[in-house]
Amino acid sequence: MTGLPDGLAEALSYAASLPTLVVATDFDGVLAPIVLDPMTSRPVEGTIEDLRRLAGRPGVRVALVSGRDLATLSQLTGVELDGPIRLVGSHGAESNNRRDWGALTPSQTAILTRLTRQVRGLRDSARGIRIEYKPSAVVVHTRGLADAEKAAATKGAKALGRQPGVHRKLGKDVVELTVVRADKGTAVMDLAAEVRADAVVYLGDDATDEDVFERMGPSDVGIKVGPGETAAKWRVEGPTQVAEILHLL
Ligand SMILES: [Mg+2]
Repeated sequence: MTGLPDGLAEALSYAASLPTLVVATDFDGVLAPIVLDPMTSRPVEGTIEDLRRLAGRPGVRVALVSGRDLATLSQLTGVELDGPIRLVGSHGAESNNRRDWGALTPSQTAILTRLTRQVRGLRDSARGIRIEYKPSAVVVHTRGLADAEKAAATKGAKALGRQPGVHRKLGKDVVELTVVRADKGTAVMDLAAEVRADAVVYLGDDATDEDVFERMGPSDVGIKVGPGETAAKWRVEGPTQVAEILHLL
């Protein structure tokens, strides 16, 4: 294969030869190029088809793991909630495997209500922020803002994340404030344990994907997409190479 780093094709080939394999991938920035309006994100042609094909192979479990809420993830990828592909949303707080997804305790609901009001208040100093509402989180998006406005919004959002019962996740131009403690690493490793996987292949581009890469073992294949510090062993440039990897698998 051309275009892939030396040794990656061999590592994938070895992982694929093992009896039970988990292939899990982030969506934004990995299957789909990052775009200014997140609702116009679309997967690179062929990627979802290849994931479906993989999911149909014996001994292979496929998961889409995203910070998006479950319903949006299903909508943008076209992957149905009741199909063979595991959908994990809100960084692991939601899954199509769990009937109780999104269910909050009364105290979490109260904290989320207050948090939502506080986040709207950030508009006083940063009018251009975009607020995303999830079942268990409020997200502040600062992509495209001027530097000063972006800095004010990020600082304000981070401060809100220091309150009791609130957990924060920092991504590219994003601060997510959630009332449910969850991370992608736990979600992926729980799936691997559930199916007794011999290896995990994971692709991700953002800070929240590091929770997966940090927990990987020697037969696992961690692939960081794009620039930035990472615990992943491999790195590729962008979604075009991701499509190549999925096709190769
Ligand atoms: Mg991403």
